[in-house]
Parts: sequence; structure tokens; C-alpha cells
Amino acid sequence: MRSMRAFLTRYPRQAAQETRTIMIPQGEPVPAGTYGYLEFFCPDTKCDCRRVVLSVMSRETGGVMATLSYGWETAEFYRNWSHGEQRGVDMVGVSLDPLAPQTEYAGYFLGAFRDMVSVDRAYRDRIRRHYEMFKRPGKHGGAYQGDEADKAR
Ligand SMILES: [Zn+2]
Repeated sequence: MRSMRAFLTRYPRQAAQETRTIMIPQGEPVPAGTYGYLEFFCPDTKCDCRRVVLSVMSRETGGVMATLSYGWETAEFYRNWSHGEQRGVDMVGVSLDPLAPQTEYAGYFLGAFRDMVSVDRAYRDRIRRHYEMFKRPGKHGGAYQGDEADKAR
């Protein structure tokens, strides 16, 4: 698994339309504002890791409030994928990414995301579709615009 790359660097138009945002009103345990769940995927087309990393960013300040990992397949899938390693077990479901920036509000944004994907099938399907677009860019029409690393190759 190589380092993750932002969905919006390859598909800025879809990212603008399809990145989930939530609006937090006054009186919640996190600062009021608009927050986007920016999606990052592993760019290795030979790696079928089936997960997304989500960076929760404040639209007002640009600050990263939380970094989540979401693996939508079963525990068995990741166990097989990782040949039984612990990191395979850690990929199941929604969790805070232990290697990435977090804040005191990270748990709130994790809970909000867990609620969204548990009830919102369209959102789950959208994340999986974005993953497929990332892994098989040739099959999804002309929207692919490349990113800096791809241009440099
Ligand atoms: Zn991967």
C-alpha cells in the first residue's frame, strides 16, 4: 500500500460535487462550521486494499479536524488480503488513523461518519465507486485529469 492520494487531485469536478460535507450548528461539542470529508485512496492499481482515508477539513479554516480510515469489506476479506497480519484486522470498519493528524474533536467526526455510512447506502456506494475510479481510471470515461505524480512519470 503506497501513500494515499486525494480523490480531488484526479477528479476535481466529481470531488466538488460529491464530497460529503456536514454543517455543524452552534451548541454542538465541536466548533460551528462546515466540514468536508475529503477522500484519499491508495493509487497502486495492483493493490486491492478496498479502503478510504477521510480527512475531515474545516471549510472556514482549512484545518484538519480528524483523519479516519474506512474499510467496507468483511474482516475475513482483510485478513486474507493481509495474509493474517494485524494491519488487516485494523482496516475493518471505521477507525481513527493512528498515523495521521487528529484533534480533540476527532471522535465526534468519527461518530458522525459512522452514522452516515450505516444509514446512507448512497454514500457508501459513492465511496466505493470513487475507489473503483481510482483503481481503474481507464474505465470511467474522460473525467480523469491525472495528478502531479502521474504527469511526472
Ligand atoms: Zn492499497
